[in-house]
Amino acid sequence: MTEPAGTALGRIIAARIAATGPVTLAEYMAECLLHPEHGYYTTRTPFGAAGDFTTAPEISQMFGELLGLCLAQIWLDQGAPGTFTLAELGPGRGTLMADVLRATRAVPGFHTGAQVLLVEASPALRREQRARLAPYQISHTDSIDALPDQPLFLLANEFFDALPIRQFQFDGTHWRERLVGLQDGQLSFGLSDPLPLPFTAPAFQNPIPGRVVEVCPAAQPIAQTIGQRIATQGGAALIVDYGGWRSAGDTFQAMRAHGFADPLAEPGQADLTAHVDFEALAAHAALPHALSEQGPFLSRLGIDARAARLARSLTGEGLQSHVAAHRRLTHPQEMGSVFKVLGLYPPGSPPPPGFA
Ligand code: SAH
Repeated sequence: MTEPAGTALGRIIAARIAATGPVTLAEYMAECLLHPEHGYYTTRTPFGAAGDFTTAPEISQMFGELLGLCLAQIWLDQGAPGTFTLAELGPGRGTLMADVLRATRAVPGFHTGAQVLLVEASPALRREQRARLAPYQISHTDSIDALPDQPLFLLANEFFDALPIRQFQFDGTHWRERLVGLQDGQLSFGLSDPLPLPFTAPAFQNPIPGRVVEVCPAAQPIAQTIGQRIATQGGAALIVDYGGWRSAGDTFQAMRAHGFADPLAEPGQADLTAHVDFEALAAHAALPHALSEQGPFLSRLGIDARAARLARSLTGEGLQSHVAAHRRLTHPQEMGSVFKVLGLYPPGSPPPPGFA
């Protein structure tokens, strides 16, 4: 007998809440996404038409090609250091890294110097990445702490939005944390007892009563490690995600089958995300940084010329879907504006190509 969808993890979480009390959104998100047996990422490949959402590298090869050539140009501008880490956080199906490596094949010395390191928590996705990148030597790690002490060229697409967030609400006098508890046996949102000021981030300084403020504690040490490595060893990071400069309000959401879903309805069966607060990432990295919308960023890197070049060998449906993919990546009403690219680079270096 199979369980009705989602109920196994739902029962585990409900039992835990019944035993020890309500959990933070971060604890709830972490269980839903990465529970070893029933987690969303541990049990499936969620991307693509048959999955729950589609990401930029799955839409077109142009995304990975341009990001790869951008990194290679930064590497050349920094004097082409002999051995370096080429890292990706949360590589999904391995498509982005495969496109990066194909596009940079012709850059002399880049492949010989690159040690490819993938930071991936899901065993199922690790297998898929190994298969996708079979022609290359790659290694996997759970944590960014394992980065070797050498220049770091890093990519992350839709990684930080998957990290667990906490939410706080100001009631005019006190802060309270948004929690997941039980009501009549069902998972439900609630608020904690009053708390002292939980964080010192700018969003907590002039609170608007009723407004939700989000923080992503797991992102902080990751941004710090990236920042320290790039500051001392050189390199750069390109971090792409939806969000903005300072997160505003409640952005916690569930996606299932390409539509929004109730985040508490079927734990482990829907993707849970929150918008990325790029100001917080830049602050913790403590590096020179630049932020651009994805559309203009890809245009400055030459996506229009690349799209025209690829279009030459296409006809019919292939051509139509190529044109649609170009539009989807760049148009302000599609992914061009809501998605941002944060570039982090060493003190004393110019901003990476692609930023105004
Ligand atoms: N970058 C890919 C996939 C984005 S989905 C793309 O653009 O298509 C998020 C990815 O991050 C998945 O590979 C997921 O398994 C991974 N992930 C989520 N939380 C993680 C964590 N805490 N540590 C490492 N990897 C994580």
